[in-house]
Amino acid sequence: MKNFLHQNFLHQITHNFLKQHDDRIGLTLEAIKDGFLDYLFFNRGTYPDQATDQDIYQALAMTIRDRLVQRWLHTYKKATMEKDTRVVIYLSAEYLMGPQLGHNIVNLGVREVVEKAMNDLGIDLQSVLDAEVEPGLANGGLGNVAASYLDGLSSLEVPAIGYGIRYEFGLFRQSFSNGWQIEETDKWLQFGFPWEIQQFDRAVEIKFGGSTQRVKDESGNEKVNWIPSEEIKGIPYDVFVPGYKVNTVNTLRLWKAEAIDSFNFQSFNVGDYYGAVDKKVSSENITKVLYPNDESIEGKILRLKQQYFFVSCALQDCVNFFLESGGNILDFHEKFVVQLNDTHPTIAIPELMRILVDEQGVAWDEAWHITQKTFGYTQHTLLPEALEKWPVGLLGQILPRHMEIIYDINYKFLNLAREHFPNHQEIIRTLSLIDETGEKYVRMANLACAGSFSINGVANLQTELLKSYTLKDFYSIFPEKFNNKTNGIAPRRWLMLINNRLTQLLDDTIGTGWEKDLDQLKSLEPFAENQDFVNKWKAVKKEIKNDLAQRIFEQQRVKVDPNSMFDILVKRIHEYKRQHLKVLHIISLYRKIKDNPNESYVPRTFIFGGKAAPGYRMAKLIIKLINSVAEVINNDSSINDLIKVVFIPNYNVRNSQWIYPAADLSEQISTAGKEASGTGNMKFSVNGALTVGTYDGANIEIREEVGSDNFFLFGLKADEVKSLKESGYNPYTYYQENESLRKAIDMINHGYFSPNERDLFRPLTDHLLYYDEYMVMADFTDYVRAQEEAEQLWSQSDAWAKASILNTARMGKFSSDRTVREYLRDIWKADAVEINIKDTLH
Ligand SMILES: *Cc1c(COP(=O)(O)O)cnc(C)c1O
Repeated sequence: MKNFLHQNFLHQITHNFLKQHDDRIGLTLEAIKDGFLDYLFFNRGTYPDQATDQDIYQALAMTIRDRLVQRWLHTYKKATMEKDTRVVIYLSAEYLMGPQLGHNIVNLGVREVVEKAMNDLGIDLQSVLDAEVEPGLANGGLGNVAASYLDGLSSLEVPAIGYGIRYEFGLFRQSFSNGWQIEETDKWLQFGFPWEIQQFDRAVEIKFGGSTQRVKDESGNEKVNWIPSEEIKGIPYDVFVPGYKVNTVNTLRLWKAEAIDSFNFQSFNVGDYYGAVDKKVSSENITKVLYPNDESIEGKILRLKQQYFFVSCALQDCVNFFLESGGNILDFHEKFVVQLNDTHPTIAIPELMRILVDEQGVAWDEAWHITQKTFGYTQHTLLPEALEKWPVGLLGQILPRHMEIIYDINYKFLNLAREHFPNHQEIIRTLSLIDETGEKYVRMANLACAGSFSINGVANLQTELLKSYTLKDFYSIFPEKFNNKTNGIAPRRWLMLINNRLTQLLDDTIGTGWEKDLDQLKSLEPFAENQDFVNKWKAVKKEIKNDLAQRIFEQQRVKVDPNSMFDILVKRIHEYKRQHLKVLHIISLYRKIKDNPNESYVPRTFIFGGKAAPGYRMAKLIIKLINSVAEVINNDSSINDLIKVVFIPNYNVRNSQWIYPAADLSEQISTAGKEASGTGNMKFSVNGALTVGTYDGANIEIREEVGSDNFFLFGLKADEVKSLKESGYNPYTYYQENESLRKAIDMINHGYFSPNERDLFRPLTDHLLYYDEYMVMADFTDYVRAQEEAEQLWSQSDAWAKASILNTARMGKFSSDRTVREYLRDIWKADAVEINIKDTLH
């Protein structure tokens, strides 16, 4: 087919075809209705009156997708592939994309038209959106950052490609059985994913294992050949990433592993059919499942293979289309800047060296120059013990050539380091890419620091801690590489899409300029003094809380009062995020109400959400505790429904959209110095929640922006945590000295919440009393104080509403557009390219 017609002639035909098919790609009411009915009949094979929710979802999704294809093709061919435009490449093992239909409707700017089209057919748009299964491509925060930056790049019209893995099974789905977390496979692709296009033509081959061989090429130069023991194919699937009300639609290119041959014919011929099929299945396992984080991945061969697999696919793809478009390989770093989202894609550094030196014949020093000019590295971790490392033996077995390259890089890097630190053997040892203290490991963060021109943290405090602590020796060698890029969130998803009610109020009050420039929310500030507006604000919040209350009742049969304070803690369950601090507060409040029933109390609804990594026992015990406490409190009629506790199962983007907008109080209570940034904190605050939080991550900057009067700060600061630990921390003394804390812990220990198994929570309480790594006990008293402060403000409902308005008004800084602009200015140095879809396709 491809050679059948002259290329120009083909383009002309396409152009004419599109001209005649405005109905297929147009954004009018009629065009969308026609497209939808067309898909329902011809694609889903059904009549409107017999269509299932899934049929309706798929038909509308295809209709919207049609509107993206032309824009996407133009962006790809006319901007990304053009030889002279600089393209941002984002490498991330995870993308928290969230449901796509609503998001793409918002970004195309057709929400009202689509709503009307559906209404005309008697269909409620929200129930169509509810039928979507969200992509299972991420654990949480780190993936949200990746997705938000792709959205920002598209909205700023900068050509970009995100590369990642097309996991067949996402993070498990969570349900509860008797209060315990149950994990089920997330078969998110089960009904098909309408937002992708398979690109079989652009498949690449990936090697693993085997050995290397030094040979001389024709001109007598030494060259290394890698003779692998296994080869597989990477098949790309392109997902559309439309910007907000622009024509740019960038690409998220996700790779699926496939066997090169469906059958190994040799085995087949000797009759080993199952052996042959086994091999196919095992190579395809590489992209089967997303690993849950918070779990030791050390030694997980499949995880390392996943990392190398997608990174190699990505770099091969970049090299291929650069060479196809006539680029010179020595200019690779002019065409691309490649951002590493944490250490997971770090193997890209030796992989680019391998491609340049072994495949393209570039000399080592020149290749290293290109490599160092290509990569930027974003570091999300503070804990030195959480930095990723791989056993040298394992890495050498799976990637023998890369192990050699890493040693060569290390040799030269340490020579450079010795110039900075002559006679500092200890520092040289910590800088080395190889950890030699016991079993040998490759330190991925060190490799990333050595091979990148930029190293950035994700909030001010974290970047400072990286410089002074986690990466301090790298900072003294390369101070110019370090910079901070405080995280941001995509306002289209995290405000406009999930909070239509508030969006309407904002649009009616200050116009729509804030949608593209979140700083314009500032003009809301004077309205905080306007009683009429304050009343409207309260009314909108009430409706949003009603929506959530209704969903909670439908799901769990628990009645919660929309007039009560919605106090919400949703995020992955982890000891450093201290869900147990919240539980202790709830128990102490419950105890207080029972002991003093005649006092007056602020009615409160405590809402939790979050998954625990399947192998993380303490986190799973915390879930069980929350559910057990909920069971007791919600069924205790003596407290007059003053407090309720709800754990919403299967926290993901889809479920979170009902939660963030409904919050009055946002819980951000990590041990100071442990949370790099957080992004949940931003989602809450921009939707008008007040934060109770520690001096940690981006909380600090949020407080700076919204004002200390509109934020409840508590707890030890990072340096206080450190010095208390060094001076000998004894959590038991807090138990002895604080009566309400003691009572709360005693209730747990006496089996109040686990009457059939009194010692059930002992591992948790013992840990708190005698070890308490995350200093829950030390922060309890001040936490209760901050909570009481919050209750006082809550009792003056206008004052609370005013603080809520100011939170939204002052959150402009945390738009991911701002973060992306900073990345562009300081690191990526790529320009916007306006996409004109009236052009003929070329
Ligand atoms: C935003 C988000 C996160 C990250 O939340 P933090 O509070 O920053 O830890 C995790 N999971 C989901 C589903 C999210 O939407």
